[in-house]
Amino acid sequence: MTHAHIAGSIHADVAKTGPQWLTLPENLNQLRAELWPAGTERDGLGRIVIGGVPLTQVAAEQGTPAYVIDEQDFRDRARAFRDHFAGWRVYYAGKALLTRAVARWVAEDGLHMDVTTMGEMRIALSGGMPAERLGFHGNNKSAEEIRFALEQGVGRIIVDSFHEIDRIETACRELGRKAHALVRVTTGVEAHTHEYIATAHEDQKFGLSILGGHALAALVRCQSSPFIELRGIHSHIGSQIFETHGFEVAIRRTLRLAEQFRVATGVELAELDLGGGFGIAYTEADSPMPTDVLARAFEDILDHECRGFGLKRPQLSIEPGRAICGPAGVALYEVGTVKAVELENGRSRTYVSVDGGMSDNIRPALYAAEYSCALANRTSEADPVLARVVGKHCEGGDILIRDVFLPKDIHPGDLIAVPGAGAYCRSMASNYNQVPKPPLLAVRRGETRTLLRRETLEDLMRLDVGE
Ligand SMILES: *Cc1c(COP(=O)(O)O)cnc(C)c1O
Repeated sequence: MTHAHIAGSIHADVAKTGPQWLTLPENLNQLRAELWPAGTERDGLGRIVIGGVPLTQVAAEQGTPAYVIDEQDFRDRARAFRDHFAGWRVYYAGKALLTRAVARWVAEDGLHMDVTTMGEMRIALSGGMPAERLGFHGNNKSAEEIRFALEQGVGRIIVDSFHEIDRIETACRELGRKAHALVRVTTGVEAHTHEYIATAHEDQKFGLSILGGHALAALVRCQSSPFIELRGIHSHIGSQIFETHGFEVAIRRTLRLAEQFRVATGVELAELDLGGGFGIAYTEADSPMPTDVLARAFEDILDHECRGFGLKRPQLSIEPGRAICGPAGVALYEVGTVKAVELENGRSRTYVSVDGGMSDNIRPALYAAEYSCALANRTSEADPVLARVVGKHCEGGDILIRDVFLPKDIHPGDLIAVPGAGAYCRSMASNYNQVPKPPLLAVRRGETRTLLRRETLEDLMRLDVGE
């Protein structure tokens, strides 16, 4: 088979090889504003500049791979949730990206924060997040974690099982404290991107099922406990959601549960937490709702549903993670090799290998997440080729970007930047293949600050205490 160069009949050929949604860009050098931190631009030399810092400078000073977070953009997104969801409690989901500096930003901007482990609690508190603004989540909180949370005075514990209620009561009895609790319920709604399924999704590890009566039983048990002050209900339906219909169904089902609880106990629950999952743009195929539009839609649904059930409007909460930190961050890699691979249909695909991969971004391998990327160190007038950006790990599934158009002259030494990488990349990073984790760098007004330093081989060696 001869090497099939796709330049020439690009529109006819290339577009058919890629997925339906991927369109051939008019101009490969252009950065789609919805994918990048606000204000991202190319300077006179064609280099991508974020927070006033050229990414070439990041690479030169800090090496690659590196995660770069635009502090201003992160904080603007956090404040947008706070301001548009006025009167709500906005919990930033710390698991998406958490360092002490991130906790401080969120605390300073008046948000609350979700944490799920001792580690997340410790980092959040150490960054200055007041304990009373923490929501403590998890389906298997240890006795030690529960005790620590109570000692610190964590604002809400989100109860996930009957065993956990036992554990909370034991800790409260010993400490002479009361836990402020929400009961996490499963509404039967599971939503991911544009799809949601409103039935038959009880089969998962989180929460207590409404359908089976477990949710009501847990609420009643908490209400009657001398150690628990029951505040309300929590529901989280999924992630990367672009539509409000799944939330609407979940709201109706949680309010119906609140109504059943009122009938059973005479008590009207004070709070309803609707979880997170608000989608962001990873590729041109994604169109997230602006935060103000989202807030208005939620307000309308709640007004309507509360009226329908004759319930007072509870204190409401949401828990955005990805929508705050995702678009504010980019991953920066250096290209190491480029090669063409012949496809069955006579076309070829360009494999671009970079110096990171599934150890710093597991999402494509874990759940087929899509990303896009752009050449970061220069512009190019070369024709586009359909490329696959892959990592350096010993795994065929170590794909960072399954399909993306890159300039045909991409070569070793080029830098590529992946937008939308602020959430669930660095926080889910591993040491697979004994690769040290990349640093997290905050950029702001032309300055770079290290939030997490790069791991070193010495760090890895220190953990290895066997002989
Ligand atoms: C993960 C999670 C979130 C945040 O989800 P995003 O998709 O990042 O908004 C919020 N609440 C709970 C309970 C979660 O598990």
